[in-house]
Amino acid sequence: MSERIAKWIISILCICLGLPLHTAVSAEENLDGGWDVVVIGGGLMGSSTAWQLAIEGQGVLLLEMQGETYTQGSSFGDARISRSLGPPDDIWGYMHNRTVAEMKELIAFLNEHGDKVSMDDVYVTSPVNYVDHISRLEDRSWLSEQPDPVKVATTPDEARTVFGINLAEDAYIVREYKDYSGTINPGATIRALHRGTVLAGGRVAYRQRVTSLIRDNAGFELEITDVDSGLVRQLTVPRVVSAAGPYTGSLLKDVALEFDQLITPRRVFLAFFEVAPDFWNGLLPTEQQGLKDLFPAINSTLQLRASDQFSMIERYTERGTPIIKIGGHFRRTDIEDLGAVWQQSLSDEEIEWSYEMLLHHLALLDVGFTRDHLLVNDGYSCVYSLTESEVPYVTNALLPDGSPDPDLVVVGGMSGVGAKGSLGYGVIAADLLSGRTEQDPVYLAAREAFGFERMKRDTNSLGN
Ligand SMILES: Cc1cc2nc3c(=O)[nH]c(=O)nc-3n(C[C@H](O)[C@H](O)[C@H](O)COP(=O)(O)OP(=O)(O)OC[C@H]3O[C@@H](n4cnc5c(N)ncnc54)[C@H](O)[C@@H]3O)c2cc1C
Repeated sequence: MSERIAKWIISILCICLGLPLHTAVSAEENLDGGWDVVVIGGGLMGSSTAWQLAIEGQGVLLLEMQGETYTQGSSFGDARISRSLGPPDDIWGYMHNRTVAEMKELIAFLNEHGDKVSMDDVYVTSPVNYVDHISRLEDRSWLSEQPDPVKVATTPDEARTVFGINLAEDAYIVREYKDYSGTINPGATIRALHRGTVLAGGRVAYRQRVTSLIRDNAGFELEITDVDSGLVRQLTVPRVVSAAGPYTGSLLKDVALEFDQLITPRRVFLAFFEVAPDFWNGLLPTEQQGLKDLFPAINSTLQLRASDQFSMIERYTERGTPIIKIGGHFRRTDIEDLGAVWQQSLSDEEIEWSYEMLLHHLALLDVGFTRDHLLVNDGYSCVYSLTESEVPYVTNALLPDGSPDPDLVVVGGMSGVGAKGSLGYGVIAADLLSGRTEQDPVYLAAREAFGFERMKRDTNSLGN
């Protein structure tokens, strides 16, 4: 059946069933376009890569199986901790800083094209709190030389004087202060990246799922299924970027099978609490500010990995009360069914852990916080794509002869660190595809840490 007839039938069906007509129209979107490269996956990584490729003038098509509003994936949500604390030349600090720099360019580009956006639409600047057991202070001997402004308290007296908080005897706290350290908003970032990609001449196609990816003589043949209509079509392109998050293993099964083992999707839960309005409104302005300054936070004072928590203010309600989000990187669990995990609700034990850990952190404030002052607002399951070392991959895929495939770049296994460096990972992925590099030693160190030789070593040691 020709595409035109299929479109006509789908349109008639939609009218008869009372469905919106744009569903039928999108089912028939013509994806042909002589693309230089197709990026698969429109989360933070694929979107960052597509933007970089588009702005350098490549004909790029970004395929995303979700709709225009991102609702399900590792990048779902309004806040991720974004920070750069670390020793000089730390690659994680570099990835954060590079992302801020790239974001400024994206925002400037959007404004040049008539949009009205600012860095504050994407970042919330606030002190980042690292609260840890005192025994681990010696691991941070680099604190005095690290480049970002920080304040440190290592005793309860110091903490009261410097920050006005209640620190336990066996803890220390570091606060990092810098423009655009705090939280990054993944949803707003993805929207800006998609807009930039389109304005720079690329294309973003939603509700298009790549259901098969194989190599052929001309490059890669993609089978793309329209999620709404079920319509299937083929596209041949010379180069591909895979940025499918937890779906990387299944997407690449015919072209880079090793990623199925190199990356393991795991479930991680998030719990959301509203500060009870009566309690919040009864706090003095300085106390409210004190609470805001306590987030985002990484609190590891209990010396048990399973008790390590990350927490942040996700957003404010219409009545002005903060919604605090909490989760634990080491509360991850295995996944039986990737398609269903997003709907899995929190267990009683997970909610209880979240209450306890949040109250533990809030005890830093001297305002008598109790469980009654925290109202459960929401909770959902999320998915990490985790590598063995928790260090992401941004790499060419492996060809059967052991050499790097110049035409297939994989950005995956972003673990719990991807968001703050997202636009930086996009730069590296685009550079790999374009055969370009930079001379900055920290860029080179990051590229090596995420890159091909490591991936090859990891692949060789699979099953050992
Ligand atoms: C709970 C949690 C807390 C985190 N906290 C932090 C933090 O504080 N700081 C930080 O820096 N990072 C944090 N991270 C990590 C960060 O959010 C992730 O590393 C990042 O979002 C990963 O983005 P991604 O693009 O790789 O994956 P995803 O966002 O999952 O994107 C993959 C996309 O590919 C699409 N897709 C998949 N298969 C196909 C296909 N076949 N065809 C078409 N489309 C497809 C999916 O729909 C999805 O949109 C956290 C992550 C989680 C889950």
